[in-house]
This record gives sequence, structure tokens and C-alpha cells, in this order.
Amino acid sequence: MTGRNERLASRRGFLRRSAGLALGAAAPLLWSTPSEAGKVSKAAMAYRDSPQNGRACSGCVYFQPGANASAAGSCSVVAGSISPHGYCIAFAPKV
Ligand code: SF4
Repeated sequence: MTGRNERLASRRGFLRRSAGLALGAAAPLLWSTPSEAGKVSKAAMAYRDSPQNGRACSGCVYFQPGANASAAGSCSVVAGSISPHGYCIAFAPKV
């Protein structure tokens, strides 16, 4: 192998190893802390108990209402008790 080919092979090996390490380090973030079966934590979705710009969980397709309109319900994406007045970055308006 020539000196140039050896340097290229060495560089390719380094890049492959680096990509593998980066993917391994990022994997826990990609599947962040599911607390109920398949759901994501409130923190990961920046959930809060107040609406944002008129957007609230009660108007989101993922919201599952509680016993009445003001009671906490649940969400098919975010784990835990969800306020109908809450909001998170996964908000998707009902059509
Ligand atoms: S996805 Fe977010 S905005 Fe929609 S109901 Fe769940 S917590 Fe609320």
C-alpha cells in the first residue's frame, strides 16, 4: 500500500469509529426515558400546565380527557397526568 492509500485507509477507519461512538452516545437521547409504556417524559417534551398562544392539551389530538372538562386526563405521547390547559412541544391540533 502506498503512503497516500495508508493515510486514506487510516482516515476512513477513524471516521467509522467516530461515527459509531457518536451514535452510541446519542442512542439514549433518541429513546429518552419512557416512563409509561412507550410514552415520553414531561421534561423531554417541555410539558407545562399552562397553554401557549391559545394552544392547550384539550385541543390536541393526543389528549385523552379526564372525568370532566376541567379534570386532568392523559396523553398518548407524554407520560403522567395531563392538564387540559397544559401544552408541550408535541402539540398537534385537532382538525
Ligand atoms: S402531546 Fe403534548 S400538547 Fe398534546 S395532549 Fe399530550 S401533552 Fe398535551
